[in-house]
Amino acid sequence: AAKTLLSVNNIEVVYNDVILVLRGLSLTVPEGEIVALLGANGAGKSTTLKAISGLLKAEDGEITRGDVQFAGETVSGLDPGQIVRRGIFQVMEGRRIVADMTCRENLMLGAFTRKDREISSDIDRVYQYFPRLKERTGLAGYLSGGEQQMLAIGRALMARPKLILMDEPSMGLSPLLVKEVFSIVRQINRELGVTILLVEQNARMALSCASYGYIMEQGKIVLDGTAEELANNEDVKEFYLGGG
Ligand code: ATP
Repeated sequence: AAKTLLSVNNIEVVYNDVILVLRGLSLTVPEGEIVALLGANGAGKSTTLKAISGLLKAEDGEITRGDVQFAGETVSGLDPGQIVRRGIFQVMEGRRIVADMTCRENLMLGAFTRKDREISSDIDRVYQYFPRLKERTGLAGYLSGGEQQMLAIGRALMARPKLILMDEPSMGLSPLLVKEVFSIVRQINRELGVTILLVEQNARMALSCASYGYIMEQGKIVLDGTAEELANNEDVKEFYLGGG
């Protein structure tokens, strides 16, 4: 079995000192794999990703119990920039690209922790995955939803992460684009060896590319298993796969 890259151990997360959102959540992500985190709206999926990336602090959220281990070291408590330097990069829900910058400038933002000379060759590598971004020379705000999602993933790659936390990459995209984005996600995982923790509403799509999955409800994991086990589970079929 692959070795564990990320482990989230029994974390409790509170917003504004009062609202308890994660209630003892644990999960692990093996190196080199794609793991899906599924659940209904408000279950706490985005909060889980932000607890890992350190972005929780910006929203007055706090880990009040438990810890997060990455590559054998504790990362909970570090600042978001330090966590990026350790090798974790979050692609936020809603993409968060900078509308009045070009694609290239947005990609450069992903490399903010780097000082090496390979940044421009890495931009070319991102363009190999997303050739359309190279053609779009105007401001990123004019990109289509799918192109913005690709840019957000490309920007994450610029940090040369070991682990990408991906929050709802399918959101707002047409079925055709969803397929395209997921196929690139798989390719990035396979070719670059980047481990991916994938939060998705589109459970069917997520389980089709993940090797393992977790289902959360009200701030806790309620079920986990291989993607195949989950896809064949009667409850999962009924509640998350639309009975299909
Ligand atoms: P969605 O798919 O709707 O984003 P989710 O599973 O990702 O759902 P979260 O966004 O993590 O869920 O939200 C979980 C709970 O935490 C919700 O009840 C939400 O209202 C609350 N919450 C999220 N962000 C904050 C915040 N900054 N301050 C207070 N409460 C928050």
